[in-house]
Amino acid sequence: MTRELLRELMVIPGLAGYEERVARAIAAHLDRLGLAHHSDRLGNLVATLPGDAALPSVMVFAHMDQLGFIVRKIEPSGLIRLERQGGVPERALPAQAVLLCTEDGDLPGVISNKSHHATTPDEKYQVVPYVRLAVDAGFASKEEAEAAGVRIGTPVVYLPRALDLASGRMAGTAVDDRAGCAALIALAEARQGKPGPTLHLVWSVQEEHNLRGVLPAATSLAPDIAISIDTLLACDTPEVADRGDVELGGGPAISMFSFHGRGTLNGVIPHPALVRLMDAAAADRSLRLQRSAHTGLLTDLSYIQFTGPQGVAFLDVGVPVRYSHSALEVVDPEDIAGLVRLLDAALDRISPDLELVRAP
Ligand SMILES: [Zn+2]
Repeated sequence: MTRELLRELMVIPGLAGYEERVARAIAAHLDRLGLAHHSDRLGNLVATLPGDAALPSVMVFAHMDQLGFIVRKIEPSGLIRLERQGGVPERALPAQAVLLCTEDGDLPGVISNKSHHATTPDEKYQVVPYVRLAVDAGFASKEEAEAAGVRIGTPVVYLPRALDLASGRMAGTAVDDRAGCAALIALAEARQGKPGPTLHLVWSVQEEHNLRGVLPAATSLAPDIAISIDTLLACDTPEVADRGDVELGGGPAISMFSFHGRGTLNGVIPHPALVRLMDAAAADRSLRLQRSAHTGLLTDLSYIQFTGPQGVAFLDVGVPVRYSHSALEVVDPEDIAGLVRLLDAALDRISPDLELVRAP
């Protein structure tokens, strides 16, 4: 189930600011479940499962958008220059396949890479800045590209794909955060008809752009507890082994610390009652639960924590992912299924005596 949901969502283009197609696919699942939903002006998609008003209300959210590019310029030759949208790794761009999402339809293209036969020895180990790269979509002129619907501002994403790997693992485009979007649909299904707190499910927008697209949803829903579902750094490949011990296939993880200082200056230190809640929920159902602590990565939860007159109790829960922000990210769908079971167990445990105000 989670696997098929993930596959379906990974192959839908949804650059930050252009999430409508992803939202429509998710809304179709909510319709299938008979769950009412609504959207706001930014495009956040919200479904609420009403619960016991005596319990703290919970908002669980995942972002629909993905990183990518915007067309910056079309050269007279028909080659297309890109602007970055989100944390695009320039090291991993040359020769990647992309999809130009024009209003007249999707067009494939290839990001340029200097022909190997013309590459000098010192160029072999250089990263080419994105401004020098171009997309070759086959057009012979600017006029031809424009006639096909390519304009300045056209959204561009990595060519959407979903690959089945060994051991049940999957590689795909925008695992970050279609994994979370899939988990949220599965959670909606798991929680239907169950007693517990009021549960707001939010599929949010523009996380990869400015981390704040979800704010209107958080402000209007005014939850007591906010839980972000996003990807977390798997550290079980050699190049990141010193960053932690989160393993792919080792189950979901909670983030104990996140911080980003370059221009954002934000981060999340989780609410201690929610950390205890997740530990107890994992123990209840004998689920594996991993822990992550990192600088250099942030989620939109950073901004939610400050909303409302009392603030919100908050926690980042994530699915381990390898090669984040690359054209193909690797994930174990079992970790997504484990995350859904963890959240279901945590929601079952929320009682009126869950104290969220941190008194001395
Ligand atoms: Zn993300």
